[in-house]
Amino acid sequence: MPCCGASDPEEGARVPSQVQRHGSHGRKPWRYVRVVVLLLHVFFTGSILLLDPTLRSQIRQGNWHMMLYGVMVLLTLLQYLYTAKSSPGYVVDMLRAGSGMHATFINTETLSKKDRPVPKDGSLNSAMSRSKIEEQNQQSATPSLLLQMMDLYPPGSNSRDLTCSSCHLIQPPRTKHCHDCDKCVLKFDHHCTWLATCIGKRNHCRFWWYLFEETTLIAWTVALYIQFLHLDMKESWLKGLTGLILLVLLILILVILLILLMLHTYLALTNQTTYEIARRRRITYLREVPSKVYPFSNGICRNLYDLCLSREKGYILEAVPPLEELEARARPYTCRDVICCRCC
Ligand SMILES: [Zn+2]
Ligand SMILES: [Zn+2]
Repeated sequence: MPCCGASDPEEGARVPSQVQRHGSHGRKPWRYVRVVVLLLHVFFTGSILLLDPTLRSQIRQGNWHMMLYGVMVLLTLLQYLYTAKSSPGYVVDMLRAGSGMHATFINTETLSKKDRPVPKDGSLNSAMSRSKIEEQNQQSATPSLLLQMMDLYPPGSNSRDLTCSSCHLIQPPRTKHCHDCDKCVLKFDHHCTWLATCIGKRNHCRFWWYLFEETTLIAWTVALYIQFLHLDMKESWLKGLTGLILLVLLILILVILLILLMLHTYLALTNQTTYEIARRRRITYLREVPSKVYPFSNGICRNLYDLCLSREKGYILEAVPPLEELEARARPYTCRDVICCRCC
């Protein structure tokens, strides 16, 4: 399994000049969004405590149920900040890591160079194109790293389609430039306005856990509101109406969160991103892939491992599998496939 790390210290030293161009960008007033999100948590959880005196008395008595609810609120807020402060995995950070990084190619077992057809002139993997790209990028990033990135694409890919027009760097597969962050993001999923950061290769797992905790917290809060309305609606109509309005808002948020949680669970199991699903036909190297094939999937277990546990190993770059292999994967499931657990 080839390892993608620059060995020449000078190569690593060249990268910061490229990185510095991006250092001053992305300083937008997103931090206020985070404050608003934190205040919304305080508002909805605090309101039910103000409305329902029985909950306040339960807290005073040290009711374990309410203690657990308090812990859940705290955990969710911490997970929110933890995710919001995390890096999604920027290409410039990968390049900055230079010789010290441990970026590994996966899905390359079937990508032996000697088996590849020789592409025509102008394609990404042709000798002419490789030297041209090396020359273009020698001032900006590690040439050996860029050349290895090129090997991750199918033969015949055009280098122009794979170069970011803002960063002027060859993007590894699954990378997209985020115009909010002004950086290329590895395994770009989406830019989350509520977290004020991108969701990508290195924080997708955290994002899933945040969605899970937030959904659990909102569902629990909805249950508290329903309990309050059931007990106290007749005693004070104003309190009841306030509780009802807040409950409707919470249910709307809960529905959105449930949809998001289901979507991102599906993405995690199949090793896909929201961007790839939404723009599959616009991504050059995915256009020809059969619609029911998950091109980067290595089975459910491996996908989950790569998403949640392999982050510690560094930047793992995924190659685009050959089209023949993807077409073979499109064949319908047989009894043997089910017994062998092909999807796992
Ligand atoms: Zn870019
Ligand atoms: Zn972004």
